[in-house]
Amino acid sequence: MFDLVLKNAQLPFQTNSANIGIKAGRILSISSENLLGAKELDLEGNVVLPPFVEMHTHLDTVLTAGDTVFNQSGTLGEAIDIWSIRKQSLTKEDVKNRASKALKMLMAYGVLYVRAAVDISDPNLTALHGIIELREELQSLLSIQIIAFPQNGIVSCPENQDRLEEAILLGADAVSAVPHLEHTREEGIQSLEFAFSLAKKYEKEIHIFCDEVDDEHSRFLEVVASLTLKEKLEGKVTASHANALLYYSDAYANKVMSLVKQANVTIVCCPLVNTTMQGRTDSHPKGRGITRLKELAEQGVNVCIAHDDIRTPFYPFGNGNILQAAHMAIHLAHMTGREELKQIVNMLTINGATAYSIQDQYGIEVGKEANLACFPVKDVYDIFFKQPKCRYLFRKGELMVETEPERTCWNI
Ligand SMILES: [Zn+2]
Repeated sequence: MFDLVLKNAQLPFQTNSANIGIKAGRILSISSENLLGAKELDLEGNVVLPPFVEMHTHLDTVLTAGDTVFNQSGTLGEAIDIWSIRKQSLTKEDVKNRASKALKMLMAYGVLYVRAAVDISDPNLTALHGIIELREELQSLLSIQIIAFPQNGIVSCPENQDRLEEAILLGADAVSAVPHLEHTREEGIQSLEFAFSLAKKYEKEIHIFCDEVDDEHSRFLEVVASLTLKEKLEGKVTASHANALLYYSDAYANKVMSLVKQANVTIVCCPLVNTTMQGRTDSHPKGRGITRLKELAEQGVNVCIAHDDIRTPFYPFGNGNILQAAHMAIHLAHMTGREELKQIVNMLTINGATAYSIQDQYGIEVGKEANLACFPVKDVYDIFFKQPKCRYLFRKGELMVETEPERTCWNI
């Protein structure tokens, strides 16, 4: 007798539905046979996926759009100016309240793993203390990894070097750098070398905000890949954005993508914020605000799609629905074919789990934790045009979130 049996679950990319038997928080059976459970739930042939992995968001800035002013130009420069004023009034409670609301929004759409950047350019590390506390308080609900993120740079703001180390000692999981925002190309490289040596010293992950600029001269992705190989950190390094890759010549872009593949660096694409932020300074035709997603995937690079900002000075929209980001990526990267859509599903799930270093415990397989997201669609590809909330979200066999089906009455 199982603790819980989920009947008629449509597993992705399979033809027949199955019954899933769960005991003590683990999947003990996946079978076409009838299974008996103390509790049973009929999923009515709806799709079940492993929960989504959100590989790039910001829990310190969430839900501050319009607080106290909106970003009227929509540019990165105005966003940074607004945030540098807003962050002066941060308190731990303010950060925790907004972050926990945003995490619930993400969970409603099937996310159970969140990698969040927290700006450490603050002498008191107020936001970091708040998010570390929250990670502890919510550990029975979802998993949070924290990136120590030096928004003001590492070389152009040398105080951030000690703050990064302090953030690691306080419990951050990954070290970041923003090389394209340093004053010079050389200082950008120095910032990467600092981040890599700090991560290596404390055996932490590396998550670089890399080349988020429409400029072919921004060439830090090759440095990230090269340092990864030099320091033998393959599989431990992620680079978000990589927008400049779009502007390189094909010859140089192919060289960089091949290096990224060789170094096993994960690329995280954030199509919602980047499609509004990038391409602004181009003359026509304007860039599409996305990295070479399709080509990276074709090269076998581990690529993820992330939601990124949720209602911040940097991006005024976003409701926690990572499927909106996937929908945008499908359009911008011209990935509408069925095999390509399958790759997009992987970019939200298993590719994220690989970068999050949980691949051994992730997935819908016998023996693994019963972490399952059920969506109200019969065909997995329908998640992209319907972009629904999660019908049921289970963590270790416990029902965490349930969304009643939407019902529209036609009085005509
Ligand atoms: Zn971001």
